[in-house]
Amino acid sequence: MDPKALHKISYGLYIVASKKGDRLNGQIANTAFQISNDPPTIAVSINKQNLTNEYIRDSKVFAVSVLAQEAPLALIGQFGFKSGRETDKFAGVSYRLTPGGVPYVTGHTLAWLEAEVIQEVDAGTHNIFIGKVRAAEVLKEGIPMTYAYYHQVKRGSVPQTAPVYTPKKDERSVSMDKYVCTVCGYVYDPLLGDPENDIPPDTPFEKLPDDWTCPVCGAGKEEFEKEG
Ligand code: FE
Repeated sequence: MDPKALHKISYGLYIVASKKGDRLNGQIANTAFQISNDPPTIAVSINKQNLTNEYIRDSKVFAVSVLAQEAPLALIGQFGFKSGRETDKFAGVSYRLTPGGVPYVTGHTLAWLEAEVIQEVDAGTHNIFIGKVRAAEVLKEGIPMTYAYYHQVKRGSVPQTAPVYTPKKDERSVSMDKYVCTVCGYVYDPLLGDPENDIPPDTPFEKLPDDWTCPVCGAGKEEFEKEG
């Protein structure tokens, strides 16, 4: 079996949220998809260890925020690399509640859907929650974020076949090492810089300001290691 075949499956990127009593939580998920049209049902696959799993099982309701392609790394890091057990993930994030009282993110979101769980499937490490959509709204038009775009473009490791790839002079690229965040796996590519934090392209890692932090998870420069 070639496990790389699995990497050829394409996905979007979503914030899946739920509630337990008056507590709210959400997480990044790439597995959210429509199952049927009549009635409209969707499914999400959530790791059993995640707090969102516990909340969905408790309240039987979840909401999916469909992220826009331009969603900043910091938003994805907030929901993808922190645990709701330690922080309130919605603190400092613009959100509203669905009619069922589940939060959806208002900034950088194209649409949200609220679903009531009608079936739960035990899939080993994950639960698949199948939900009947009972409320949904398009917030704005735009291109949805895909998992591939997030990894290949937002994280800076751009394959040469990508339309956004800009070839640079060889001597410059060999002297510019990439650095990997040991906390979350984000790759700092000096050719691209970190535009979301005003770091221009062609900035070597060593020239980053001392207070620069990982745009995804917030780790300091000392948490980075040279790639390879
Ligand atoms: Fe990081």
